[in-house]
Amino acid sequence: MRKIAANYIITLTGKPLKNGILVLNDDNVITEIIDTGGQLRDAEKIEFYNGILVPGFVNCHCHLELSFMKERIPAGAGIDGFIDGMVHLRKEDENVILHEIHKYDRIMASNGIVAVGDISNNSSSFELKKKSSLFYHTFCEVFHPDEKHADDEFIKGLALYQKAKKEYNLSASIVPHAPHTVSDKLFSLIKKHAAQTGDILCIHNQESATENEYFLSGTGKLYNKLKEIRKDSFAWEKKNVSSLKYVYEKLPPVNNILFVHNTFSSQNDIETASSYFKNLFWCLCPNSNLYIENALPDVHLLRKNKQKIVVGTDSLASNTRLNILEELKTISANFDNISLEEMISWACLNGAEALNIEDIYGSFYSGKKPGVVLLEKVNIQNFKLTQESKVKVIV
Ligand SMILES: [Zn+2]
Repeated sequence: MRKIAANYIITLTGKPLKNGILVLNDDNVITEIIDTGGQLRDAEKIEFYNGILVPGFVNCHCHLELSFMKERIPAGAGIDGFIDGMVHLRKEDENVILHEIHKYDRIMASNGIVAVGDISNNSSSFELKKKSSLFYHTFCEVFHPDEKHADDEFIKGLALYQKAKKEYNLSASIVPHAPHTVSDKLFSLIKKHAAQTGDILCIHNQESATENEYFLSGTGKLYNKLKEIRKDSFAWEKKNVSSLKYVYEKLPPVNNILFVHNTFSSQNDIETASSYFKNLFWCLCPNSNLYIENALPDVHLLRKNKQKIVVGTDSLASNTRLNILEELKTISANFDNISLEEMISWACLNGAEALNIEDIYGSFYSGKKPGVVLLEKVNIQNFKLTQESKVKVIV
């Protein structure tokens, strides 16, 4: 048994506890949360830490298999430059890919991350995920913009999904990559499968302004890049609506769904999505958005609309770290008046709900095993992160 205390505990099941105590059994399951009323006694039996204790973080959007791509695509290239970098990437040795997958799984653990929603285009990370101390939900991603390839691409995705579930016993689902990379037919195959299974969905959404331009007016940098890549097979008619408005009904309304990025989502987009989807989560990956587009989503607009926000790191192709606290620091530095407790609820409890793991993760509650993370070098008086804030894993 351990008794762990700190200046504050953000429980996410009640108000923050000053000098509160967490009691854990030998399996690291929480057995009691003690509100001391701010007065800590019996100090010799307690581990006390300076800082704020929070549950382990849920990284809702990652591509662990792309960890070898760190610093290979320059920052600030825009989405068209990023696509170019991905398309022309030199083939990497499988051992290097596996080495980086293992390395960054451990780095995520040391950054206080306990669960990950992870995109897979192949099975290179499956062995690691099976053995890891972290929980992984694997999003088996499919994409092909050409209708002719919809059946083949879906069968490939289905095989990856079955491998993840049956061979590796992983939690998994089949998901579309993005509005501009998935044909209507491929969307309908994904929708049918998701409606049958009830699996968690995700889709990259409105990551660039030019994605909306592609759908609204059939012009722009994304249009030009896709035309260049696909050459003769490229045929695109403008849709006169934003990318979100074009695709939302191509997905089932009841499954949990994570919209990832949302850098250029408008009030109208938010209203459209939130009135259709019953279990909608908006995933923010701010450091990736700064890396690729040097832009950030309108976080206050999502808050004003009372939307559920979750947080992800995206991959090391477009980020320098897989560290949720660094994402929260970026949000805190760029958006005023968002409390630390609110951001922690996005990064922990909302993330756990999105991945259907809130029975174990996401908050301090008797019977849960959410991990215990200490936030050090925070401004305790104002309850604010500083640029020096860092994570120490306690449990
Ligand atoms: Zn992504």
